[in-house]
Amino acid sequence: MIKDQQNSLLNITTTSATTTKRYTSFFASQQSLQLYSKSDIVIIHLGERWKTTLQYSDIDQLTNFTTQSQSRQVTGLFQRINLDAQSDPCCGVVTWSAQKSLWWTGMTVTWLLFGASTISYSSIAVFIILTSIILCLGHSIGMHRKLIHESFDSPKPFERLLIYLGTLVGLGGPFTMMYTHDMRDWAQRQPQCHPFLSHQNSIYKDFIWQIHHKLHLNESPEFSFPKDMQQDTFYRYLQATSMLQQLPVAAVLFYFGGWAWVVWGVCARVSVSVFGHWLIGYFAHNSGQRDWHLDGAAVQGYNVRYLGTITFGECWHNNHHAFPGSSKLGIEKNQFDPGWLVLNFLKRFKLVSNLRTPEDLPRRANLSRLTKKTNTNTKD
Ligand SMILES: [Zn+2]
Ligand SMILES: [Zn+2]
Repeated sequence: MIKDQQNSLLNITTTSATTTKRYTSFFASQQSLQLYSKSDIVIIHLGERWKTTLQYSDIDQLTNFTTQSQSRQVTGLFQRINLDAQSDPCCGVVTWSAQKSLWWTGMTVTWLLFGASTISYSSIAVFIILTSIILCLGHSIGMHRKLIHESFDSPKPFERLLIYLGTLVGLGGPFTMMYTHDMRDWAQRQPQCHPFLSHQNSIYKDFIWQIHHKLHLNESPEFSFPKDMQQDTFYRYLQATSMLQQLPVAAVLFYFGGWAWVVWGVCARVSVSVFGHWLIGYFAHNSGQRDWHLDGAAVQGYNVRYLGTITFGECWHNNHHAFPGSSKLGIEKNQFDPGWLVLNFLKRFKLVSNLRTPEDLPRRANLSRLTKKTNTNTKD
């Protein structure tokens, strides 16, 4: 029997290591709750896919629960990551990734070589419009807030459109994005993790590592993608052809605007998007302002002010570490979050629904609000 004595949030009786039970009131959606017991770790699945409401919720709530039979402590609750006793986020080797490195370098060199000779008002407009649509709808809303964090609901065809746009960013297909994001998040929530995953390096070294290298953990946990995603032929197709997806875009741009539009609408866009994604990630894990602190985490997220517009709200990363299941990233009055505005616009057309905010998420016992005094502008 696992029980939350205080709130009776979960009240599940297990008779074997694996069981399925209906689960009642705490989470909005009525889904089956599956309980797996694996050595000393209990992993809870909600329905087919891990739900955001459970994503970080709450190791601490659950640590208060003990199994009747042997006082098994719940030591981990990780989205899609199956831990075992050897799983280690610290030890690993960083090696050069030809694919990552040549991809970004190829795009950047092409842009630098031909950018000046092809610059025009129209090519700059194509660059700005395409980059904005793809980063906002594709990356921030599609890949990050929807696919990875399930922070709102959406009809499947529209979700697929968002994920298609997210693939066009040039960072990888949906499976790559989910895997790299989850592994980084998991590692950062541990007391220590490898500097590749924590970004705790000089900015130069971090650039070389993140854009040109890959980390291979010695003892990497098992990763299981949601079943519905594994069975989605469109997502598998996007994953297998993620780089080639630039070709149809390039063909359309060439048809309407010649090589100038291809250079600015593909090469410049991919180069800036991949570089910008790394740069924001570097600052968002190293310095800035914080309202929230997560006890026991190797890395805190930071809000990088003044970048709300160009990051479409992704710069409010301290909020995101505190409330990963929230579709609203700029949660204070003066935190501009274009992605949230776009979501509310899409809601009018029923393209998105159930936008979850911090108030909808379970309380996290290891999360505390910093006072003005402890609110820091640098790493602590
Ligand atoms: Zn995230
Ligand atoms: Zn982060």
